[in-house]
Amino acid sequence: MYRLRVKTKSVHINTFGCQMNKADSELSLGVLMERGYRVAPDEASADVILFNTCSVRQRAEDKVYSRLAQLRQRKEENPGLLIGVLGCMAQKEAGAFFKRFPHVDMVCGTRMFDKLPDLLEKLEGNGKHLLATGEAGNITYYPKHRPPGRHTYQAFVTVIRGCDNKCSYCIVPSVRGHEISRSVDEIVAEVEALAQNGVKEVTLLGQNINTYGNDLAGGVTLGTLLQAVHDVTDIARIRFVTSHPKDMTPKTLEAMAALPRLCRHLHMPAQSGSDSVLERMGRGHTVEYYVKLIEEARRLMPDITIASDFIVGFPGETDRDFEETVRLMKAVRFQNSFIFKYSPRPGTPAAALADDVPLEVKKQRNQKLLKLQSEISLEENRKQVGKTVEVLVEGPSKNDQRRLVGRTPQNHIAVFEGRPDLHGSLTSVEVYDSTSLTLFGRFSGVLASSPENPPVVATTEDR
Ligand code: SF4
Repeated sequence: MYRLRVKTKSVHINTFGCQMNKADSELSLGVLMERGYRVAPDEASADVILFNTCSVRQRAEDKVYSRLAQLRQRKEENPGLLIGVLGCMAQKEAGAFFKRFPHVDMVCGTRMFDKLPDLLEKLEGNGKHLLATGEAGNITYYPKHRPPGRHTYQAFVTVIRGCDNKCSYCIVPSVRGHEISRSVDEIVAEVEALAQNGVKEVTLLGQNINTYGNDLAGGVTLGTLLQAVHDVTDIARIRFVTSHPKDMTPKTLEAMAALPRLCRHLHMPAQSGSDSVLERMGRGHTVEYYVKLIEEARRLMPDITIASDFIVGFPGETDRDFEETVRLMKAVRFQNSFIFKYSPRPGTPAAALADDVPLEVKKQRNQKLLKLQSEISLEENRKQVGKTVEVLVEGPSKNDQRRLVGRTPQNHIAVFEGRPDLHGSLTSVEVYDSTSLTLFGRFSGVLASSPENPPVVATTEDR
């Protein structure tokens, strides 16, 4: 009796925030599809509307509040519509959601995504206001299938959840809990299944991926996981994010350098170029330590590119502190950086600090760093002109459907003219122009790749 009713339900999920949230939304849709739900083409036609939320910045939260307010009338017109809030805000706000938005039916925390079908069944059974934040719980089931997504040839694979670091500005540890690593076998099996389904590139995910394995027996590390994924699966490309410098080790860099199908790109947030700011942020390392890591990475992998995050206007940040951040950006020459103005988050240690940098100054510093990063990205991308690069074709370019778009192993975005049947192929592209964001090229061939011999791209020098 139950099976028949579930088959007719369609679900739509709105996702806010980081890649981990995107992966959790895919997981949520995957487990619901396995229990007979359909992915609704849009929110308007869905029987179940879910919001997978983010608490890292106030703006992300405000977006969800206004969306929920907009749904009040629709719920009055259609009481059978189910509305659920998932993720970081759900974990943080919990039952408070029902007070503010009585038309919300379910609040489900960051460790319950795989339990969604059972929670919705329970909701169907006994009506209103289901709260499931399950602090102690963990995600124990990962669906075999992924919902049809925009990225057919790429996939995120969560390898560790939670974070045990205590960065003073960050809400993640309190909403996502302690670090829990998945087993190597489970991850390898998931990557192999994805490769069998045509996925060419996986990105291994963790809020702080460098501590992967610390909670597992047998001396498992990120390095051993990368080796296992590389050696056991046929996946053409492997990436991983996000690296906390304090937990990055030369051993992991050596593992990266030794694995040909591991993409030469590292996202390692510096956050600030000032030791005193890093100390107040609770980052647990110095600028000198950070720069040494970058030098080691470049010694082992000269073609590696580095991306960073920066927070400007952190409490107590002086002009001199900020100039040290500018100096770090000039010294390291990041491929790109995500730059944010500090905003205090309730429930974080830094919220107790006086938010003493005026908004105008935050804006100026933000603009200055954005401008500098754009100049550096342009100069660095200019160095690719005249080279032939390897590109995994993701699909048609959003701006020009006649062109294809994809990424190099160094995470450059490349656009070039080519046939649609190249989607999902590893190709070689001759670069003839670039901007700070994009390389423009000509298609020069399909690269046959196999686990034994990853694609070899001739550079102009080799010719
Ligand atoms: S490493 Fe720091 S910034 Fe990153 S998720 Fe953990 S606490 Fe937050």
